[in-house]
Amino acid sequence: MVGTTSILRPKGLDLSFDVDSVTADTSSSILRIINASRGTSYTMENIDSWNWFADTSKDHSLKFSSVYIAAWEDYKSMKPLVSQGELQELSLAYNFHFVTEMLPGARRYLKEFLGMNFPDLHAELIFRESGSGKLNLQFGLYVDDNPSLAEQIEKDGGKTLFLVRGSSPETKYKYNEHIRESERVIHVADTHAAVQRLMALARTSEENAQTKTRNAK
Ligand SMILES: [Mg+2]
Repeated sequence: MVGTTSILRPKGLDLSFDVDSVTADTSSSILRIINASRGTSYTMENIDSWNWFADTSKDHSLKFSSVYIAAWEDYKSMKPLVSQGELQELSLAYNFHFVTEMLPGARRYLKEFLGMNFPDLHAELIFRESGSGKLNLQFGLYVDDNPSLAEQIEKDGGKTLFLVRGSSPETKYKYNEHIRESERVIHVADTHAAVQRLMALARTSEENAQTKTRNAK
């Protein structure tokens, strides 16, 4: 079977693939650090808003930036939420990019994390300033867990987001629970499910293209 992978590629379709809590289990690492330093026992169920850290840490000296960077510094303990094989499949079917708004201090650890977990994957890494907006990239497809990105995509149109929501009570991303599903914002339980939906979409696009070609003859 020659060319079975190349025929899946919907030409020019750029895919933005988020890092924190989509590629890597950043949330669990952050919770581990907070709990160890404060003697708390927070779980994912407690993270009920995007600004949860700021809202709960008013009386504490712990800074989000230091906790976040400490979590990434310990990248060897950070769990990948997707396999190399899955990302390789995606990068054959799409113009695959990791796109992240992570703090600059953590970036070099991300490179180590990617090299350690996905050594054979060749993917572009795009760093955006926090709040500068992934939408400005003019990509067509997004995999992300950020509720405000979901709200923007719902309003702006022309783009599709696969919103990762967490697959079990222990891993639920409560901070994006309020986002409704629509044609533009598609709910997926976890990153594996996002990969499956994207691969199914790539096959459908290819079949449609082949039908069009046949009908035009
Ligand atoms: Mg994220």
